[in-house]
Amino acid sequence: MIIATGTASGKSLSYLVPAVSSVLDGRTILYLTPTKALAADQLRALEELDVPELRAATFDGDTSFEERAWVRKHANYVLTNPDMLHRTMLPRHAQWSAFWRRLAMVVVDECHGYRGVFGSHVAQILRRLRRICARYGSNPVFLLSSATASEPGTFATRLTGLQMAEVTTDASPRGATTFALWEPPLTDLRGEGGAPLRRPAAAESADLLADLVAADVRTLAFVRSRRAAESVALTARARLQDLVIGSDAPVDLPDRVAAYRAGYLAEDRRGLERAFRSGGLLGLATTNALELGVDVSGLDAVLIAGWPGTRASLWQQAGRAGRAGQDALAVLIARDDPLDTYLVHHPEALFGRPVEAIVLDPANPYVLGPHLCAAAAEIPLTHDDLEIFGQSAKEVLAGLVADGLLRERATGWFWTSRERATDLADIRGAGGPPVQVVEMSTGRLLGTVDEPSAHTSVHTGAVYVHQGETFLVAELDLEAGVALVEAGAPDYTTFARDVTDISVLESLHSHPLGRGELHFGSVEVTRQVVSYIRRRAQSSELMGDEPLDLPPRTLRTRAVWWTLPASATAPLAQDGLDLGGAAHAAEHASIGLLPLFATCDRWDIGGVSTELHPDTGLLTVFVYDGHEGGAGFAERGYARALDWLTATREAIASCECERGCPSCIQSPKCGNGNEPLDKTGALRLLAVLLSDSP
Ligand SMILES: [Zn+2]
Ligand SMILES: [Zn+2]
Repeated sequence: MIIATGTASGKSLSYLVPAVSSVLDGRTILYLTPTKALAADQLRALEELDVPELRAATFDGDTSFEERAWVRKHANYVLTNPDMLHRTMLPRHAQWSAFWRRLAMVVVDECHGYRGVFGSHVAQILRRLRRICARYGSNPVFLLSSATASEPGTFATRLTGLQMAEVTTDASPRGATTFALWEPPLTDLRGEGGAPLRRPAAAESADLLADLVAADVRTLAFVRSRRAAESVALTARARLQDLVIGSDAPVDLPDRVAAYRAGYLAEDRRGLERAFRSGGLLGLATTNALELGVDVSGLDAVLIAGWPGTRASLWQQAGRAGRAGQDALAVLIARDDPLDTYLVHHPEALFGRPVEAIVLDPANPYVLGPHLCAAAAEIPLTHDDLEIFGQSAKEVLAGLVADGLLRERATGWFWTSRERATDLADIRGAGGPPVQVVEMSTGRLLGTVDEPSAHTSVHTGAVYVHQGETFLVAELDLEAGVALVEAGAPDYTTFARDVTDISVLESLHSHPLGRGELHFGSVEVTRQVVSYIRRRAQSSELMGDEPLDLPPRTLRTRAVWWTLPASATAPLAQDGLDLGGAAHAAEHASIGLLPLFATCDRWDIGGVSTELHPDTGLLTVFVYDGHEGGAGFAERGYARALDWLTATREAIASCECERGCPSCIQSPKCGNGNEPLDKTGALRLLAVLLSDSP
């Protein structure tokens, strides 16, 4: 069963009651959450029930060796995450045999987080779990809990591979929430190509956070990046410090604001959660709802700096305010980008619309292959097992045998290597071991960053902020897996830029679109972080572009692309239109808008545009999935192309700038320094593409 209702509607209670009664019957419960913080929060709730027979324990990366042995032997309610299930519990299933045998229920909490490639991995991990349970003779009930999503039953079936019933009626009492859409003003500052800049959403959020905290309003600010969480907290504290000096406000006011994010050490995170729950902290800046496990009650206001990606997460974040039935405030603060611009001008795209479906693709062969290896290493695979892993399993298995990863014998498929099969599946899509961020002068470990993100966030010269302290990266050593940093206080932020090459491997689907053609297919993408820009912290003003020397990364993935024939572009070129700049501008804006239709993050996708692509021989604009094997985003773009490209055109047209700015056609991660770009050209190109469409 899946329960898909709003925040604080009593979802936990609906599984806690049957779970506890199962425990009293001598059965066991497995509770899965995407984050450690949420598990810690659930554990607290379970301990408060004060049921002597209930032996609940978390089992995650922070659990010590001695504790692990105790959990395996004695716990009857185990709280863990998909990573631990994948790496430890399933591969060492024999050590847990008593637990599997008695397993009555698997609770999958906050399951809307399992989307895209990560969701596809979790779907396969749950299939491996079902197979292990069957081997030990148990057949647990799967109970999923989610924020509202459209067609939750379909999603739950894709995630678990089981037929699922859905519960969607929410009758919990709620106060009224005042919802504000906030567009920061254009400033006098000029960015790339002389474009006007809006005041950054983070700067506006920091001001609002300081004002609300000063008024004793308990406020949570959701920001997009870890770095922004740090800088919002830092700026709000500075504003409160100014206030304290000039008034009789309590001197400890600045200390009541903090940043919270994953990547901090466990004890730091727990400390912050405690302080916010007790009211010691009044303002907290955090990266997203899933990183935050706090069961916050009595929250008065929520600030959302930048569109969080989906209506589902918007309502989930806004739902943190106004618990216990009291009224609340939620503010969505637009960032300087095309999608946010579009939304604050089109409230109808947010309100009174159903939330989006959760996209995942368990059949992605790049995901399925490694899990079939892991499953074979757990217990050799038999023909009967194929049903559990889906229709494409047979073909993928043949490939694994051909590659020498599995051996086929009369009874089935075997993993015969000495290596750990689970190392093949990188379920968070991180690609390799994390990079450690170490302070040079003291040797102190500040935190970790996954390898692909290291290219963009801790490259040599990057500004890295930790717990309000600012560091400069002296050197990123990818081979050693270390970024050496030293304390510093630069008045700028840094932004990595990459260049991309793309080649078409195969067009799988295509159809005419206006005077052009739309395609969906597989591509090979080569991406390389080539430089970083520095922007003044308070204004986003551009200060310079520094080259970087980092290795390229290649991925095979899926893309959606459109082409226009010479007969359609030639008249435009005769009018003096810069075709390359027009295509480039349309590409940037369309990448900005795709998340509205494909439930992805702008950073999950990338694009390439060219006046003449060698593989198509035509003017071509590509938008691709940024994950090996694809994640379903480009496919959604193909399916919703007309709506998507129409919204792209409207976003460009509705921006009041003259020749293009970050709110419409400029992209912060453009490896070509946002050159060339042609705003009017992009509008005309899209008009031709959408001209004869129904
Ligand atoms: Zn603009
Ligand atoms: Zn670009």
